[in-house]
Amino acid sequence: MSIRIGILGYGNLGRGVECAVAANEDMELAAVFTRRDPSALKIATAGVPVVSVNEAEAWKDKIDVMILCGGSATDLPVQGPKYAKLFNIIDSFDTHARIPEHYAAVDKAAKESGHIGIISVGWDPGLFSLARVYSNAILPQGRDYTFWGRGVSQGHSDAIRRIKGVKDARQYTVPVPAALEAVRAGKNPELTTRQKHTRECFVVLEEGADAAYVENEIKTMPNYFADYDTTVTFISEEELQANHRGLPHGGSVIRTGTTGHAQENKHVIEFKLDLDSNPEFTTSVLIAYARAAYRLAKEGQTGCRTVLDIAPAYLCAQSGEELRAHLL
Ligand code: NAP
Repeated sequence: MSIRIGILGYGNLGRGVECAVAANEDMELAAVFTRRDPSALKIATAGVPVVSVNEAEAWKDKIDVMILCGGSATDLPVQGPKYAKLFNIIDSFDTHARIPEHYAAVDKAAKESGHIGIISVGWDPGLFSLARVYSNAILPQGRDYTFWGRGVSQGHSDAIRRIKGVKDARQYTVPVPAALEAVRAGKNPELTTRQKHTRECFVVLEEGADAAYVENEIKTMPNYFADYDTTVTFISEEELQANHRGLPHGGSVIRTGTTGHAQENKHVIEFKLDLDSNPEFTTSVLIAYARAAYRLAKEGQTGCRTVLDIAPAYLCAQSGEELRAHLL
């Protein structure tokens, strides 16, 4: 029998889960849940019901794993504990500083209801976290670096869109090539925020907007842009649609370390992602962890987990025997 997946929230990740389920033979999409009017939502898969979140409880026994696809800022802190009471859940919560409290809330709800919740799944947090943990365990004498991009940061694009006079915007985070080279060469450079990444902004103005004002508001925005070398390019709406519609992303987690009696031998571990579509890749990770959640639940396990707690064999559709024969 295939694993019955539910999607809760139909944005970029919701659409991505739909593709990822279709690509995995042991899964089927049971239903899509939304806070909006379900009749107004058109999904890509024929024959799958679109249901109001208010009816989620009626689906308790018809869904094996619910993938929560809400935003990290305000949706997931509520949706995680709420739906862990009804379902095994997966989420991609990425507010790193608040992961401990989110973990505690999901853990409580999942233990009380007898479900499994795997939180903060994706690539960062997610696969990048695994890379950091493996490389720290292996090279205790060393240094960590994470570079993001080149890719679209949705948070930074949203911040630009909130400035008066801005109609639309895309922000690309770009690693500084010289910094990456120095790290990969094992030089262990001390890098400031400005030396690691630059920010490129492509902005469509409202009719009659003040370009100089907008540029200054962006470049001086605290936390988002003030600590970076930022370029602002004004473009037409057509150009934005033609050249900046996609959501590429990626980056590298690098640890450089030393071994030997006098720490004389250098080692570099790099885990690199180059993604055409951030949401489609992220949801491919979510689906692999949904398989793990299904298996853990079948074993009778309950409570919250992160990617750090899940053994790799739980992610694959293949048996342990097949994995040992072909991938070990
Ligand atoms: P999104 O497209 O903004 O969707 C978020 C929610 O907004 C949806 O669940 C949907 O809920 C609602 N929504 C979407 N389109 C809407 C529309 N046109 N009108 C009204 N409501 C709409 O966000 P996303 O790109 O899927 O990303 C979700 C979260 O994933 C992000 O906040 C980010 O933190 C996280 N993420 C994590 C990783 C990682 O590596 N861990 C990677 C990428 C993203 P309803 O259907 O209920 O309305």
